[in-house]
Amino acid sequence: MRFVGKTIRWVLNTIPRPALQRVAEWAVPILGLFYIGKGRRCPICGCERRKFLPYGYGKVREDALCPKCLSLERHRLLWFYLMNNDAEREKIKSLSTILHIAPEVCLMRQFKKIYITKPQNYITADLESPLADMHFDVQSIPMEDNSVDIIICNHLLEHVESDYKALQEMYRIMRNGGIGVMLAPIDYSRETTFEDDTITDPKQRAELFGQYDHRRVYGKDYLERLRAAGFEAEEIDYAAEFSDYARTLYSFGCDHLYIVRKG
Ligand SMILES: [Zn+2]
Repeated sequence: MRFVGKTIRWVLNTIPRPALQRVAEWAVPILGLFYIGKGRRCPICGCERRKFLPYGYGKVREDALCPKCLSLERHRLLWFYLMNNDAEREKIKSLSTILHIAPEVCLMRQFKKIYITKPQNYITADLESPLADMHFDVQSIPMEDNSVDIIICNHLLEHVESDYKALQEMYRIMRNGGIGVMLAPIDYSRETTFEDDTITDPKQRAELFGQYDHRRVYGKDYLERLRAAGFEAEEIDYAAEFSDYARTLYSFGCDHLYIVRKG
């Protein structure tokens, strides 16, 4: 099914991000018809397939994308974590305020169901996505200090001009006792993050930073960068806590979870 992977990579690199979601919502389930069977299960939407679909802007990863809810490996892993880890689960169950920045549709749909009786406590935000409730630059968040209990902000910081400013803003609006989930692509072969503001050409960015709109490649110092804004930060190899069978069934990939706390 190499052509499925190639098609998805072409779409990702060609269609502007605001339109991508709309196209993906009808196109990906059609591609998913090539994968009918058993062997993989999405814990977010319950979809079963022989395999997940390939996905990737540069190098295409096999067994990655759920054809029904569009979850990727890290979303499925994170969903298990949020639903099973006591502190996070309790906050979500009690409908504490969530700010979901650059919201992934697969997670957003589930949160909207959970927050059906208190929809005002689940807030989505994005610079431009028409699916989001609020539109702002994460380096200047138009929200009050200490007003949010959970912040979910995955794979965004590598796109932002000053990730330090963005993290400071997220720290400011988080309540004491709050929790944040801040996943990012990490190159574990790098000791320190590589960034260069002078590189603005999309092709060069793709070559150096791994994607046409990335501004940096994080290294092993990612945790330190989260801590620099004031957060306590923890890296969790959560997939390692599952059996081989479960890791294959849900196709978790090898992402680590990055969890921050305030106070
Ligand atoms: Zn799914």
